[in-house]
Amino acid sequence: MSAQIIDGKAVAAALIEEVRAGVDARLAAGKRAPALAVILIGDDPASAVYVRNKKKSCEKAGIRSLAWDLPASTTQEELLAIVDQLNADNEVDGILVQLPLPEHIDPQAVIERIAPHKDVDGFHPYNMGRLAIKMPLLRPCTPRGVMTLLEKYGIDPKGKKAVIVGASNIVGRPQALEMLLARATVTVCHSATENLAAEVAAADIVVAAVGKPGFVKGEWVKPGAVVIDVGINRLADGTLAGDVEFAQASERAAFITPVPGGVGPMTIATLLQNTLDCANLHA
Ligand code: NDP
Repeated sequence: MSAQIIDGKAVAAALIEEVRAGVDARLAAGKRAPALAVILIGDDPASAVYVRNKKKSCEKAGIRSLAWDLPASTTQEELLAIVDQLNADNEVDGILVQLPLPEHIDPQAVIERIAPHKDVDGFHPYNMGRLAIKMPLLRPCTPRGVMTLLEKYGIDPKGKKAVIVGASNIVGRPQALEMLLARATVTVCHSATENLAAEVAAADIVVAAVGKPGFVKGEWVKPGAVVIDVGINRLADGTLAGDVEFAQASERAAFITPVPGGVGPMTIATLLQNTLDCANLHA
């Protein structure tokens, strides 16, 4: 068997078009275009690429992006003051602070300073809490993007066994909550999990978000399973690889996401969707 490849690029492009239509509907109703403030601190090259892509995608969807490119020397107090200013600005719908932040800034303090209704990344404890109690408002982009991918491919997690490998605040944990919301039976694995292979082998849907290339072995995958690879790892030769052994897993899975071209584009498209949601929440 050879798995059907889930085309994240195509689904993301369609989602950006949907967001564009939502923006156009706002304009037709006499409202302004949604505006996203993007704060980038320092000169981490990977973060700069992510931020550039986010700004470009905003343009495609008709969303205004407001660039806040700050030096690495920016203090936590200065950053919090900017967040306060953006929270109070009625022309700004969403606030994104690109992670990771320099060592001298506590990311949690910054995340918690963003007004929950402008929290496009959905990382504020208020939004994570709402997701946990089945009342989602703004949902973290990557896990929400994964759910959109499943939906577009007609894969309903209800009643299925979903195994999430990784339990970070930005991917694994909210992914587990999303799966629970979709009525899957959920197992969350992390570095203290015993017998990971057996956990993965029991999964109808496996989501890998570990950050180690080829960590999830193809032979662990249950025949006919759905494999979602969130991992983005740069190899020594400069190419990108996921957290799953792609070729081997493709032999067993029914569906699989490639890296690149799977979950990655969905994360950005979902950020735009969240920005439109933010705008529609308050203006
Ligand atoms: P983190 O490093 O924050 O979390 C990694 C998770 O993997 C942790 O929960 C950790 O466990 C778990 N883990 C580590 N080693 C093992 C092990 N041996 N067995 C089982 N679990 C293990 O990473 P992120 O969640 O931020 O990112 C994960 C990957 O996803 C990265 O490659 C990142 O680049 C990518 N990513 C991709 C995005 C996209 O748009 N496609 C968006 C965000 C991230 P523990 O909790 O015990 O430490």
